[in-house]
Amino acid sequence: MRFRILASPSQDALSYLLGDRGEAVVIDPVPGIDALVRALLTEYRLKLVLVLHTHLHHGRTSCARELATACNVRIGAGARAAAIENSLPLAEGETVRFGRERLHVLDTPGHTPGCVSYLWRDRLFCGDALDVAGCAAGDSEADIGTLHDSLMRKIFSLPDETLLFPAHPVKGRYVSLVIEERTRHARRGGLSRDQLLSDMVLHRHRPGSSAARNGSA
Ligand SMILES: [Zn+2]
Repeated sequence: MRFRILASPSQDALSYLLGDRGEAVVIDPVPGIDALVRALLTEYRLKLVLVLHTHLHHGRTSCARELATACNVRIGAGARAAAIENSLPLAEGETVRFGRERLHVLDTPGHTPGCVSYLWRDRLFCGDALDVAGCAAGDSEADIGTLHDSLMRKIFSLPDETLLFPAHPVKGRYVSLVIEERTRHARRGGLSRDQLLSDMVLHRHRPGSSAARNGSA
């Protein structure tokens, strides 16, 4: 079994390669890592079976297209995500198989209307549903109430030990835990809708926030 965290050349965005028994998936490929992914597939003797997006922003080009075309695979994304060519719509409860492993699809809308997360064993790949040790990631497409529900009812209801892998590192942190994020938010008033709104407003104007990340998902 293989699990690799792949940072973009600028180190501000993260992709994930998961492999087992000759098959692999890549989650949220970022610009500039296609050659590395293909080299790792060769080194590990893996065949890419699907490229996955946690989310796509309206009007932005999918970074997965080149990799998917080169490997002749489809692009899996949330069923409510913006339509892209050669996509495989994935809905809540569906599974994605690679080797003997499977990823479970969770609807986690809010950052964008079509956001999904992928649960693999004790690890959740949650895209921009939250920033590690930061706040929920919001931008012009974010719906605060919906994101609040996704965090409280889906992500924070997972077991304490679940590892959370985001789409971007924050201040050198690449991973968190459900218990850590849930506790931190609880300390700050239980992550009320108003608190989340305040966080997002602050987040939008913070240098290095998702809204300021040029071209990334
Ligand atoms: Zn995003």
